Amino acid sequence: MATKVLVYNDDNNEMEAYYLEESDTMPHATEGSLTVGEFRGSSNSPTIWTNKSLMDCWNTLREQWGSPIEVRYAFKRIWEGGHGAQSQHYAGTAMDMAQSFTNEQRDALRILAEQIGCFVYVEPAYLTPTWVHVDRRMTPSACAAGYIMVAEGSINTYVLVLQDALNTLGFTGAGLDGVFGVGTKNALIDYQESRGLIPDGIAGCQTWTYLTSEVKGTGSTDTTIL
Ligand SMILES: [Zn+2]
Repeated sequence: MATKVLVYNDDNNEMEAYYLEESDTMPHATEGSLTVGEFRGSSNSPTIWTNKSLMDCWNTLREQWGSPIEVRYAFKRIWEGGHGAQSQHYAGTAMDMAQSFTNEQRDALRILAEQIGCFVYVEPAYLTPTWVHVDRRMTPSACAAGYIMVAEGSINTYVLVLQDALNTLGFTGAGLDGVFGVGTKNALIDYQESRGLIPDGIAGCQTWTYLTSEVKGTGSTDTTIL
């Protein structure tokens, strides 16, 4: 079955949609260097998303490293849980790589990832000694969890995370397109009202904190749009 791949193109502020097989190269990744299957990793989701800026950064890292770098885990939907505070995986902007490398190779890859400068975060070895975690999260974060504030008019992968979470909890007016329009705003206001939050239709720190704690680990539901 084909995987739907949604890519936020940071260059022109548009969402792109692709229908690809597991062995196909991720959009914007150097030919053959990162497959859909690698990016989806352990997620069962038939719908994944990322940023073009992550792919651009991956291409630079891969080119300068000069040989293949395995990626076993990049995307996981928020309701699949299981990755602690590393919520950037939900936004499709993080990768876990180099699992079969030696410690020395992983140290060298972390140094290179820092040097090329385009990753926003390179996790230090003491936190994930057996893989290299990097991410190209968007900034500024709305709160400690790393999510950015999104509101009507926003277009990015965090809107997809929001829409996915709202749909998972039964607030189904949001669709799943990465574009924060009236339907997303109304679904969010309904959610905020139901939880006693300020119903401003803006996903800031408090809303993200509620949403992520509620939806994490719930698994697929009838209302989750695939
Ligand atoms: Zn990770």
